[in-house]
Amino acid sequence: METLVPILYIIAFGLFIYGLMGLTGPKTAVRGNKIAAVGMTIAVIATLLQVRHNWVLIVVGLIVGAALGVPSARQVKMTAIPQMVALFNGVGGGAVALIAWSEFRTSGGFATEATYVIVASLFGAIIGSVSFWGSLIAFGKLQEILPSRPIGLGKAQQAVNLLLLVAAIVCAVFAGLGGASQLWVIGLLVLAAVLGMLVVLPIGGADMPVVISLLNALTGLSAAAAGIALDNTAMIVAGMIVGASGSILTNQMAVAMNRTIPAIVAGGFGGTTLVPGADDGVDRTVTSTSAADAAIQMAYASQVIVVPGYGMAVAQAQHAVKDMAKLLEAKGVEVKYAIHPVAGRMPGHMNVLLAEADVSYDALKEMDDINDEFSRTDVTLVIGANDVTNPAARSDSSSPIFGMPILNVDQSRSVIVLKRSMSSGFAGIDNPLFYAENTSMLFGDAKKSVSEVTEELKAL
Ligand code: NDP
Repeated sequence: METLVPILYIIAFGLFIYGLMGLTGPKTAVRGNKIAAVGMTIAVIATLLQVRHNWVLIVVGLIVGAALGVPSARQVKMTAIPQMVALFNGVGGGAVALIAWSEFRTSGGFATEATYVIVASLFGAIIGSVSFWGSLIAFGKLQEILPSRPIGLGKAQQAVNLLLLVAAIVCAVFAGLGGASQLWVIGLLVLAAVLGMLVVLPIGGADMPVVISLLNALTGLSAAAAGIALDNTAMIVAGMIVGASGSILTNQMAVAMNRTIPAIVAGGFGGTTLVPGADDGVDRTVTSTSAADAAIQMAYASQVIVVPGYGMAVAQAQHAVKDMAKLLEAKGVEVKYAIHPVAGRMPGHMNVLLAEADVSYDALKEMDDINDEFSRTDVTLVIGANDVTNPAARSDSSSPIFGMPILNVDQSRSVIVLKRSMSSGFAGIDNPLFYAENTSMLFGDAKKSVSEVTEELKAL
């Protein structure tokens, strides 16, 4: 057994890394996920081979976990995956926090533990608790149980957060110094919990992607710390892979949003809601159009850029979009897709949906690669996208999303926006694009509207 377990772990780690490589592109992502899942199964089996006692508890835990996890993962709608990921991620952090508490209890207040075990356990407890409670708030915002606008303590926010962090560390020091009272550990967990909630509550809608990947990275780090405490190589490696890849993703998302991570965590972006129609002197005249008119405009264009957003995911319009694009291409129109890094509700959301509809990977253009093309484009078709096209991010320094790079949709000759109403997007702010002279709105469910346009194209 002493040689078998390390061998199984090494195989598992190889599969984790190979699986992760598959996640770099939509075509290989599903296979990559399956490979990593096989790796995780092997790692779990190897860990169970070392278990000497408590089998009943472990089996009960596996049954309860599978009974909760499998049906919810099978039944979840594609549009609800982001909040489910936030929840699953948080549960990992919560588990680490509970492991640290349990270690404290079983070792008589860490009396028999080496210093590195104590430090790793307490570090894992703080980070795990922050991640669990922060992820619950992220879940609430994505599920729209909580408002996506910032909810904060204003100027006192940073001081309160710092105070909570310092108090949690003080509790950790007392717990680690051999104070057998569980109150120190409970205090640490509660303070870190409040900190986790207070860090995520003030984050505005548009900045949520960065926070979600940050929480993901924190969960990975806490799992790695728990692995050090429990002397479990699998947890260390898996935790560090999640921590490192989550940190890289967090950095990439922050760069894409033109934000710094400390500024996001300090809170305050994505704030005030400017209600469409508010009496603020802005001319909000909207031009509506019909499927027939949209079809004519596109059929006679030389290039059409499709800008997908969260609404395309809600409407599940990706297959209809592909059919429409095929017809346009048959008429000699060049069709490209402009993908904003935070379109939808999770990184790569649009890429995954369009890959599912077999849209050629070459037609998908990243923001930086296509932004210069809008000014040379006849028609841009915005399908359920809103925040990622909002020109206020470029021009209005009072806008909560000011500074966030957007797709320069407003620069194309004609813009057709498909959405159901004048409602705002996730950031909860008005979008001047919808009132621009070159914009017309095609109101309705995106899938229905695209199908109607396709029918009109067939008739042309
Ligand atoms: P938005 O959330 O800005 O807008 C989506 C639009 O889709 C809404 O205005 C809505 O308008 C419309 N819509 C909804 N359902 C339908 C439907 N069935 N048919 C047609 N339209 C529909 O989406 P974007 O993709 O532009 O931007 C993403 C936002 O989410 C950004 O603020 C981003 O920061 C945030 N976010 C992104 C994450 C990520 O990782 N990608 C994670 C968390 C947040 P209406 O109701 O009028 O139809």
